Amino acid sequence: MRTQRHPLLSSTIGTQRDIVSLHFGPDGREHPGGRKAYIQAALHADEPPGLLVATKLRERLGILEAEGKLKAEIVLVPVANPIGLAQWIDHSHIGRFELRQGDNFNRHYPDLAAAVAAKVEGKLASDEGKNAALIRRALVESAAEVHAVNELESLRKTLLTLAADAEIALDLHCDSEALMHLYTATPVWERVEPLARYLGAAASLLETTSGDYPFDEACSRTWWQLREQFPDRPIPLGCISVTVELRGATDVDHALADMDAGAIIAYLTHQGLIDLPVPRLPGLIAPATPLAGSEPIVAPHSGVVAFRATLGQVMHAGDPVADVIDPLTGTTTTLKATTGGILYARENRRFAYAGMRLAKIAGATAFRSGKLLSE
Ligand SMILES: [Zn+2]
Repeated sequence: MRTQRHPLLSSTIGTQRDIVSLHFGPDGREHPGGRKAYIQAALHADEPPGLLVATKLRERLGILEAEGKLKAEIVLVPVANPIGLAQWIDHSHIGRFELRQGDNFNRHYPDLAAAVAAKVEGKLASDEGKNAALIRRALVESAAEVHAVNELESLRKTLLTLAADAEIALDLHCDSEALMHLYTATPVWERVEPLARYLGAAASLLETTSGDYPFDEACSRTWWQLREQFPDRPIPLGCISVTVELRGATDVDHALADMDAGAIIAYLTHQGLIDLPVPRLPGLIAPATPLAGSEPIVAPHSGVVAFRATLGQVMHAGDPVADVIDPLTGTTTTLKATTGGILYARENRRFAYAGMRLAKIAGATAFRSGKLLSE
């Protein structure tokens, strides 16, 4: 294992944070064009399940490296967001938004398509493999050339530069209370499906453009943008990127983390990056559904929340999800599903403000448009 430190732009005098990346397997710098996977945890810094899964991966990858089983470089960033990790106010951890300017840590990643296109134009040939290698180099160069003016932008730039040339990029998150689920781009679903099987994902939510440019899309989207721009050149979908939601924020224990790390190792083995027998592929728990079909259950007014539906419940239109109750008047609003599907995530706070999302149901029919991710 090789450890690299990547200093972030210092935000204020006397502070200096680093991203630490752990590199396993063949050194990509010595074997240019070799295969690479990238895994990061807790980009939303108050989502700790990924931190423990990364710990398990660190142990397992170290063993596999010592046994000579790694056929690709695997880069692990166990702590993707040291800025958010340090944001505590009155004993509450604020890890989703940067306190200085209120930005979500998983939005607004740089769009590299134009910069990469300028670098590869006139150089793309008829060989898909050579084109992929050319594009990977251009992706890393373009990410490294992004002008970051503050600490948050340098965090985004650093993470994207580390991931830019990976063919598999896994971003480990969690929800408030949730079943295992994942978000990925529609064009790459076929290659993500085995991961959903190994992880036991209860929902797989697909969208090509979810809005606001989260990390996973920044890794994968350039490839199909280039395909559209250079339709006469063979260009693969060169990066399979996935946001993995490791259940709920308190679903952190050794057994779960061991299981999830094992599922990720199984997937990397299935994809040919690890020289082990390919583990048996389990069945898919639920078919993929469109992110635009995921129904957010929204509180229309403030009140105390009493759920009437449980995680994993199969909902039908009209089924009650939760009551929102005003204790002063007793006024109770029963929120009902308007679509069918599995209830895969719930809010873990039990007091709602007007407009708060309380639950999500993975419906099979797309009905939303615009920005599809929660705030
Ligand atoms: Zn998250």
